Amino acid sequence: MKFVIATHNAHKVEEFRRILAPLGIEAATADFEDVEETGTTFAENARLKAEAACRATGLPSVADDSGLSVDALGGEPGVYSARWAGEGATDSQRIEKLLQKMENVPASERTAKFVSAIHCAFPDGKSIAVQGECFGTIAFAPAGKDGFGYDPIFLVGDKTYAEMTGEQKDAVSHRGKALRLFVQALKSR
Ligand code: IMP
Repeated sequence: MKFVIATHNAHKVEEFRRILAPLGIEAATADFEDVEETGTTFAENARLKAEAACRATGLPSVADDSGLSVDALGGEPGVYSARWAGEGATDSQRIEKLLQKMENVPASERTAKFVSAIHCAFPDGKSIAVQGECFGTIAFAPAGKDGFGYDPIFLVGDKTYAEMTGEQKDAVSHRGKALRLFVQALKSR
């Protein structure tokens, strides 16, 4: 079955394809308008994006809504991860803001998790919704040059996401876990 990836984020598209292709799932991009992410949870926003892409294309559409939840910041930036440092801010600006807020937080209290909610909307109105999480800590300084977003400051063990190869990241990441759950759910439909 062919799926539309309901995102305009090129990094997410790359990860979707890298994770889904070996599992036998073809994921295509399509032209459709972004919806406003008015939900208050990752799951709600993923549903809004998937349903909009499904309506626009008439094809089964899979969306990811994801973000970083930092314990010392009461769960921020959370669902607002993309917009946290203001509209149009760069990844480096978002990282800088986070590191500044965490300046006085000791290593033992720098725990955080990445969350990925995946929603697949089918043209017949049916859906699949799953969620993946990856627990880690916030580094004191960025490290690594691969990846996107908050990758350079999210440590799993002693490596940031940005220091891992794509395949290493997928094996432990929130998105990797969520997409594998999606494929399992798809196969048992
Ligand atoms: P969304 O498009 O609303 O889901 O925005 C998610 C935001 O969370 C992205 O713009 C990134 O800032 C961040 N994010 C989500 N997944 C990742 C990841 O795998 N690595 C780094 N940052 C991520």
